[in-house]
Amino acid sequence: MQAELGHLLRDKLKDSCDRNADRAVRRAYRLVLLGAPGVGKGTQAELLMERFGACHLSTGDIFRAARNRPAAELAPGMVTALEFMRRGELVPDDIVVRVVSECTEQLTCPHGFLLDGFPRTVAQAEALKGILARHALRLDAVLDYELPREQILRRISGRRLCSRCGISYHVESRRPKVSGFCDNCGGTVIQRDDDRPEAVLVRLETYACQTAPLISYYRKEGILVTVECGETPEETFARSLVGLRSLAGE
Ligand code: AMP
Repeated sequence: MQAELGHLLRDKLKDSCDRNADRAVRRAYRLVLLGAPGVGKGTQAELLMERFGACHLSTGDIFRAARNRPAAELAPGMVTALEFMRRGELVPDDIVVRVVSECTEQLTCPHGFLLDGFPRTVAQAEALKGILARHALRLDAVLDYELPREQILRRISGRRLCSRCGISYHVESRRPKVSGFCDNCGGTVIQRDDDRPEAVLVRLETYACQTAPLISYYRKEGILVTVECGETPEETFARSLVGLRSLAGE
């Protein structure tokens, strides 16, 4: 399964890194993006990627890419993973950790990386520490995006994404120029299965129980940056940069 997974997004991720490398600032940031589903981590990842030239690694994107492949081509572990995902539950730690440890190219990207949706449990955070240590690397910061629950629900219910390149849209605030089709690649713009209301409630509950403990975990490590989401992605991005600078004592 590892080889299969590793190839799923490798080309896409490498392209994004190469495309941004010339714009990279000198500092290579190795960041985790934390926050409940719907706070806009994917959009912040796009903005941070543009700014730093870092590689974006989203475990959710990896599972979604696997879902678009014929079931017969998937390893049994991945079939199990997709069942968890469809219900809005977390995929078991061992499967996710194997997927991430396989993404060496992104983790060792010279411009840094942005981990979006990983780690999601304390066990995954511990595993990440081990994976990075094997490459003589460590995290620089964890950006924790905060947004009130009612705004999260509004954002998720209107959220759409391109079924081909994964760019996100919103029915109110970020519509594609041609309705139903992606501005970037022309792919079909769809609603995610797990953005359906019943799956969303499970995901928010799962976040509160299993992922929120990472906030104190990383606070204790001294690398937590809390970012209150602003009205626009750009405002949130500006706050992220301020937080990163302040953590670095600049
Ligand atoms: P996301 O796009 O990050 O919201 O992820 C979509 C779904 O993929 C989640 O609801 C989980 O089912 C699964 N998933 C993604 N990342 C992880 C992870 N780190 N641990 C467990 N499950 C994950």
